Amino acid sequence: MPGWSVTRAFERRKDARATFNAAGSILDHLRRPANLPSANPTRSLWTHSSADANPLAREGSYGPLTTDADICIIGSGITGISVAYHLAEAVENQTIDLDVPLRVVILEARDFCSGATGRNGGHLTPHTFYSFAARQDRFGADEAIRSSALEEYTASSLVNIIERNGWSEDVDLVNGGNVRLLFTEDEERETRADFERAKHAGINLDNVQWLTRDETYGTPYSAVKLPGHNIWPLKLVTMLYQHAKQCTGEHFDLRMHTHTPVTSITRSQSEGSNANLKYILSTPRGPISCLRVVHATNAYTSHLLPSLAGPDGIIPTRGQIIATRASVGKALIRTNSWSGNQGYEYWFPRPLGPGEERPLIVLGGGREASGPQFELYADDDSGTNPVVGKELRDFLPTIFQGKFEYGTEPEMEWTGIMGYTATGNPFVGPVFDFSTGEKEDFKRQYIAAGYTGHGMPRAFACAEIVVQMIVAELTGTQWSCPTWFPERYLTHNRLKHKN
Ligand SMILES: Cc1cc2nc3c(=O)[nH]c(=O)nc-3n(C[C@H](O)[C@H](O)[C@H](O)COP(=O)(O)OP(=O)(O)OC[C@H]3O[C@@H](n4cnc5c(N)ncnc54)[C@H](O)[C@@H]3O)c2cc1C
Repeated sequence: MPGWSVTRAFERRKDARATFNAAGSILDHLRRPANLPSANPTRSLWTHSSADANPLAREGSYGPLTTDADICIIGSGITGISVAYHLAEAVENQTIDLDVPLRVVILEARDFCSGATGRNGGHLTPHTFYSFAARQDRFGADEAIRSSALEEYTASSLVNIIERNGWSEDVDLVNGGNVRLLFTEDEERETRADFERAKHAGINLDNVQWLTRDETYGTPYSAVKLPGHNIWPLKLVTMLYQHAKQCTGEHFDLRMHTHTPVTSITRSQSEGSNANLKYILSTPRGPISCLRVVHATNAYTSHLLPSLAGPDGIIPTRGQIIATRASVGKALIRTNSWSGNQGYEYWFPRPLGPGEERPLIVLGGGREASGPQFELYADDDSGTNPVVGKELRDFLPTIFQGKFEYGTEPEMEWTGIMGYTATGNPFVGPVFDFSTGEKEDFKRQYIAAGYTGHGMPRAFACAEIVVQMIVAELTGTQWSCPTWFPERYLTHNRLKHKN
């Protein structure tokens, strides 16, 4: 049988983890800033399923460029647009009270939302207890609990916004839970240990279900099922942008320029004091000056912030996805989302469209097959890796025998660039030079980036934290960390934790 082998994949994954841990030495020659996003990316289902799949694709790419702003947000993925959304909400709720409108400009290198958010797996699943034991051992119980709290908070905030505004159909929200297949005894033992440690620490896990081999829909594995959703990520981000845009008025002015890459950031200080500090963002369409910058560029962060290049910073890492058709009807393919091999593979059947009988499955993963480099430091999403593609093509026919056929060619295949950090913790808060600790040169610059392939249940709330900090600065108040937010994510704590 030409199939994917669990044992082989598991061994490769262990090798790959060792590779990642050793990235500081064996991949040191790759310690260079990320390139700008490639000009001709592969096409994802979300952005190119139809001619009008991305209505904001070229928003603000023609005509004059805005020249002056209070806040420039670089990047139009879930992070950048969530920053705009939270700023709009802060103005609407009069958390910021201004006589003049707060001028916010989003700058995007390519089409709207064409980075990781526009090419991901579509899973919105809070990992309430996965990796709990390792986090508790390394960062303490309080921080491990905060990780769960952040993911619950993010996912429930997004689902509440979707339901409150009646967007469920617009964004293809599916509330089907997420089944994680446990491929090996080691994986099962580790998962159960995480569950017990998290429960003992007081996390409510009543809604977690353990499934036996007989209950996992014809697979030979046991599994654990978590509450979770799937969405069409680009549609969600489009709705969030349109919501923020509608707040434009007397107190808020939101603009976006796509196809406008920021190539450098320099300081312009007319009278020498920090009060007059402005930043000049260079773009091929001309410069734009602003008082504050938010880096929402995730995998590409080190292009503008080179101190975040290399293994202690944010490593661009290429993920690959196929959209492949099942060989049986919907009744035999459950509408859950799934993951397996400790989350390295993840998939879910799309809801059936008009006239469709067999579901289209969106499946990502397979990096463990790509050799020792594991797609780390790969920042080009203009092509696919055939070895990873083969791994993905063989995966479902092996796991669900009789429901998928070997040799079926996917209907679409694409790549996207994730921003990995060595511990999986994103960088959130004020920017500084991460190699020297120098702050002054980066005053009023902020970042939320580095979600390590797990951004949907984290980015929206990380953006909220950045906006809380900006509001505190604008109102002259002290920011304090909410109890749901892991303090180790904060940039000023990153030197202490080393990553
Ligand atoms: C293949 C794949 C599958 C994934 N699956 C999942 C999943 O199922 N669930 C999940 O939770 N997470 C998943 N992730 C991770 C998730 O997509 C990311 O964590 C999240 O989308 C990051 O959002 P972001 O807005 O920070 O970054 P992005 O969406 O990458 O947005 C950054 C934007 O910045 C722009 N940009 C970069 N540099 C510049 C510049 N200099 N000037 C102007 N613009 C610039 C880019 O073009 C891009 O649009 C996946 C990622 C990939 C790639």
